[in-house]
Parts: sequence; C-alpha cells; structure tokens
Amino acid sequence: MVGEDLERLTRGVSLTRGLGRSYGDSSLPPERGGKIASSRLADRILGFDPETGVLRAEAGLSLLTLNSALLERGWFTPVTPGTQFVTLGGMVASDVHGKNHHEAGTFGRHVTRVRLRTGGGAIVDAGPGTERELFDATVGGMGLTGHILEVEVRLSAVASPWIWSESESAPDFETLAERLVDAGATWPYTVAWADLLHPSGRGLLVKGRWAQPDEAAGRTFGWPSAVSVPVDMPGWAINPLSMRMFNALYYRRHGRKTRAGVVHPQPFFYPLDVVHDWNRAYGSRGFTQYQCVIPKAAGVEAAAKFARFVREIGGLPCLVVVKDFGPEGSGLLSFPKPGLTFAIDLPVTGATPSLVARFNDVVAEAGGRIYLTKDAFSSREHFRAMEPRWTAFDEVRRLWDPDRTIRSAQSVRLLGDDE
Ligand SMILES: Cc1cc2nc3c(=O)[nH]c(=O)nc-3n(C[C@H](O)[C@H](O)[C@H](O)COP(=O)(O)OP(=O)(O)OC[C@H]3O[C@@H](n4cnc5c(N)ncnc54)[C@H](O)[C@@H]3O)c2cc1C
Repeated sequence: MVGEDLERLTRGVSLTRGLGRSYGDSSLPPERGGKIASSRLADRILGFDPETGVLRAEAGLSLLTLNSALLERGWFTPVTPGTQFVTLGGMVASDVHGKNHHEAGTFGRHVTRVRLRTGGGAIVDAGPGTERELFDATVGGMGLTGHILEVEVRLSAVASPWIWSESESAPDFETLAERLVDAGATWPYTVAWADLLHPSGRGLLVKGRWAQPDEAAGRTFGWPSAVSVPVDMPGWAINPLSMRMFNALYYRRHGRKTRAGVVHPQPFFYPLDVVHDWNRAYGSRGFTQYQCVIPKAAGVEAAAKFARFVREIGGLPCLVVVKDFGPEGSGLLSFPKPGLTFAIDLPVTGATPSLVARFNDVVAEAGGRIYLTKDAFSSREHFRAMEPRWTAFDEVRRLWDPDRTIRSAQSVRLLGDDE
C-alpha cells in the first residue's frame, strides 16, 4: 500500500475511521455532516524492536498485515478481537478485548504511546507516563479525543504460530458459565457459545493456548484464503427456525466428548474472516450486534437472569458469544469490567430500538454496561445511567477540544454533542 500522511488528512476533519468494523455508529459522521478521514492507507510499520517486542506503526496498519508479517516470526498482538480486519487506531479507540481478557486485559493495557492530532489541532504524544489523562480518555474513547496518528504497542512472544485448543459441551447455561470462569484459571484464551434458542441455554466451551513447537511439528504454516457470500441473502433467510437448526447442528456436531488438538489461529481467533462479506447473509436491511457486560458483583445469578431474558424474548438468531472479563482497565470509557459479557447479533428491523431498550433495562439494573463500538440504538438516558464515568471523560475531552469539533453520529446521540 502507498503510505498516506494521516497528519495531513486529519486537518479540519471531524472524525477518523479505520476499517469500519464497529457494528454501531461510532465511525459514522453526525447527521448534520462532517468530513471523515480514512486511515486505511496510513499503514506503515515505523519500527520494531525484537528485543522488547515494541512495535511502532501508523494507526491505519491492519491486524491482518501485522499478523501476516510477524506471527511466523514469533510475535502476536497481546489482545486480538474476533476479526483481523481492524486497524491499530480502531483497536485503541474501542480498547478492544479478546478471549484472554481475564488474563491480559484490553489492548490499551499494552499500548506504550499514541500520537494524536487533538480536536484543537495540536500533535501530542500520550501514554501511561505522559499526558496520562488524555491517554486514558483516548483508550476506549471512540476516537473523540483526537485523530490517532501512530500507535506504539508491546507485542507478545509466542511459542509457535499454532494454537492448542480444547472444547467441550455443557448441558445448560449455568454449567457453561461456571466452566467458563473456572477455565480462566489455567487457560489464557477462553470463550463460550451459548444456544439461547434452546430451553436449557446449552453451549460449547472453547479453551486455547499457543502450541509448543513439538506439538505442532511437521505442520507448514500459511493463511487460508477466504470465500465470499456472493449476493445479499433474502431477509428471511436468518430466522429463529433456521438458527435453531443451525445451533442444534453446531452443538450435535461437536458431541459430548472433549475435542483437543492443534488448530490454525484463523478459525480459532477469526472464524468469520474466512467468509468475506458474511454480513450479506443478513439481507439488505443489515444487522447490528448488542454487547453488554453483567458484572461479577451482581452474582452469577444476574448473568443467568440475562440469559433467561434473552431466551424468553425468543425469535432472535441466538448463537450468543460469552466471555469472562477480568479487572477493569484505566480507559475512562473502556468497556470491560469483571463479569460475563454477552454478544448477540441482531438483524435490523423496526423493532430493534425497543429491543435494545429492553436489554438495556436489565443490564442497567444489574450494574452492567454496553460496548459502545457495537451500539447504534441506545438512548442517551440509558447510556448515562449505565456509564457514570462519562462526565470524567467529557471533562478531559473538553480540555483538548473545547468546541467538540471531533464528533460522530454516536457522540451526538449519546453525549449530546448537538446540545
Ligand atoms: C467479526 C467481528 C468480530 C469482532 N470481535 C471483537 C472482539 O472480540 N472484541 C472487541 O473488542 N471488538 C470486536 N469487534 C469490534 C472491532 O474490534 C472494533 O469495532 C474495532 O474498533 C474496529 O476497528 P476499525 O479499524 O474497523 O475501526 P472503525 O470501525 O473504523 O472505527 C471504530 C472506532 O474507532 C475510531 N477510530 C478508528 N481509527 C481511528 C483513528 N486513527 N483515530 C481516532 N479514532 C479512530 C472511530 O472513530 C470509531 O469510533 C469485532 C468486529 C467484528 C466485525
């Protein structure tokens, strides 16, 4: 790719976006318009120190490029989301989490510095030891504190490019949740898939770690090529019946026995990346995702109650991803806090806003919160009720951008940037 100068592109611009993989409206312009800079061509690796693992790169560098360049050489991002089609800038702005949150925290924990163009126009370096408040507001700040130009992050050394994975089925949601949390004591990567269309809420627990070289001996590493969904599927193709069948097949195919072995990191971390344009399976009206965390402080019963609530609503294409979150990071609006997180795909229909409001009622009552990068439908009232930290965030933001020149459709909706 040709390197683009993000510093030049972001002058006088109201928002920067990366690869647009956020499900909500945080990377979209406000309704009244505003210019958006795309970081995707500002993707140069500026330095890498193999002694320390510290990488410095332009914010538009994609995880796909990073993984392709460094995984076979023994380095991997300390935290990865469920797709490689994201940029470093997007990973900082959303403060992404992975299957290892219980152990590694969010991406922001490993970032040593970011270079920003603030809304006021200044170019500022911020990190854990410099301009700390700005750094904490930027990590998980949905791009509102400034255009991220560069990111410096400490990568993790891995024993091989392969994953040793084990999976098992659980007969109901409570057992699944309990085993997920227990597995975190010994496994760096854990995730559960819950079938909330089934009355029991049964599911599969998947655990993983980097394979040792002798476990992966004799394998040749490469990245598999992807297939595409060629056309938009009709809107009715994904419905409760087809999803119930899919879930049942998924569950039965696994069987009762524990499965164990060496797998490629692609299906383990990025199962959807092998199908390009998979979103077209939801038809032309599209879909969104709802993701919340139900805090540990509210007890396991609160998570089970949320799962029951989703089951009782019925009619949702519910293969729900559940992860275990460890301690909260320092990002002022960063999403994770100790508890169980649920991610639920929702086709967009006229009923989506009221459905999201019903979810938010339950989450707010449990003391939980939602993931802004996935949100397009929550009301300002719900957001403020779930996110008392927003005033502290807003104070720092205004220090650097008094006129709130950097704004998005989401910041207008949730933070009142049009007030
Ligand atoms: C299949 C799939 C799986 C996913 N799994 C996970 C997961 O497991 N965990 C998780 O945490 N997330 C997950 N996500 C969400 C995704 O990781 C985040 O939305 C991420 O921020 C997207 O990065 P992006 O580069 O596409 O950013 P965009 O979607 O383009 O932007 C997201 C936000 O980042 C801001 N931003 C982007 N670049 C910059 C920049 N240079 N400067 C300032 N602000 C910037 C935008 O303004 C916007 O607010 C998943 C998404 C998909 C599609």
